[in-house]
Amino acid sequence: MTQRRHGSMENAPRDHGDRKSATDRPTRTEAEEAVRTLIRWAGDDPDREGLLGTPDRVARSYNEFFAGYWQDPESILRTTFEETEGYDEMVVLRNIDYESHCEHHMVPIIGKAHVAYLPNNRVVGISKLARVVEAYAKRLQIQEKMTAQIAKTINDVLAPKGVAVVVEGNHECMSTRGVHKPDVTMVTSTMLGVFRDDPSTRREFLAFIGKS
Ligand SMILES: [Zn+2]
Repeated sequence: MTQRRHGSMENAPRDHGDRKSATDRPTRTEAEEAVRTLIRWAGDDPDREGLLGTPDRVARSYNEFFAGYWQDPESILRTTFEETEGYDEMVVLRNIDYESHCEHHMVPIIGKAHVAYLPNNRVVGISKLARVVEAYAKRLQIQEKMTAQIAKTINDVLAPKGVAVVVEGNHECMSTRGVHKPDVTMVTSTMLGVFRDDPSTRREFLAFIGKS
């Protein structure tokens, strides 16, 4: 349930005023002012011609980069198909491209996710699995948490026999700053149910995604 700021003097329209809110969202004007401050912090002049439209563009870009805050991953999965004709083999979706932002530096994490589950009578449209990845990726993230969130949501909503999620990510906070290691890929995984308990099921999944 969203709580509105009490006694606020700001009546400017909000982009997502009635939707689920992770935090109390500032106004568009406040966001653009913050971008102007960061431009000045970088050492440039937000009033020079080339930068005049930048705060507006950055604010709109944030609506794309962080669209996941306005999506409910559990409801994405709730339309399930129960007539599986007895299909009880692994469902694997591999190479799901995602773009995220690291919560420590707010720079991109770009990579691929691989998602599998072993159905227990209920299956879901495969595009829904990709949308769950996207709903968690398009937030400020750490890769470990994102991996666990994707697995837990699929496990909670579909109640399958098991879920496996492997996420690979290239972190721009490692390639463009800090230690400057552009070729490092971080790999994280969460294995639940049979993928955790049964080595042969886990091996089959890893072979499907080319990681065995
Ligand atoms: Zn970082």
